[in-house]
Amino acid sequence: ITFASIGLNPLILKAVEESGYTVPTAIQAQAIPEVMAGHDLMASAQTGTGKTAAFILPALHRLAEPSAVRSKGPRVLVLTPTRELAQQVSEAAAKYGKNMRVKVVSILGGMPYPLQNKLLSNPVDILVATPGRLIDHIQRGRIDFSRLEMLVLDEADRMLDMGFSEDVESIANATPKTRQTLLFSATLDGVVGALADRLLKTPKRISV
Ligand code: AMP
Repeated sequence: ITFASIGLNPLILKAVEESGYTVPTAIQAQAIPEVMAGHDLMASAQTGTGKTAAFILPALHRLAEPSAVRSKGPRVLVLTPTRELAQQVSEAAAKYGKNMRVKVVSILGGMPYPLQNKLLSNPVDILVATPGRLIDHIQRGRIDFSRLEMLVLDEADRMLDMGFSEDVESIANATPKTRQTLLFSATLDGVVGALADRLLKTPKRISV
């Protein structure tokens, strides 16, 4: 299997090639086709397996087609437990999306509100956020989720461990029910499984 045989948009393939990646990792080979087919997904994968590209590449593929909804809110939302992880996801999105016109914004705790308000008042394609700060902006009515198509919960087990369970759930419930939802976690059982039962629709399950 190759990135090209998966059918990713050529602009994305070019960026992947320029990153020096020739072969998809196991999680990428399994996840990308399912996500491109529109399925919800729960995947157990540790850091270092290439999980970031496993959701960013098909997300970008989706963004290559224009939205049917005329608004400027994010089309893809990625929630991460930490600022560091959010930064890695934003960098990956910028790197693989560099040949496309894609606006990536991160909304992280500990950063000044005025700048974030300004970022959120302009069009956004991919929003990467930590749950606590995002909830603040949602409660202040600063986020328009009317064109949100995809929600990604990255390292869901860590988000729950850090006490973000309620925040994650209320953020998900603020997005359209028609969204596609992807959940990545080291473990998929217990509280993570219960969260998935509430937020995902007949997900495909993969583990690497
Ligand atoms: P992640 O698990 O998403 O944190 O990725 C781990 C590392 O693997 C990152 O440094 C990526 O740049 C790299 N990586 C991701 N996909 C591939 C691939 N298909 N081939 C080689 N390296 C990759």
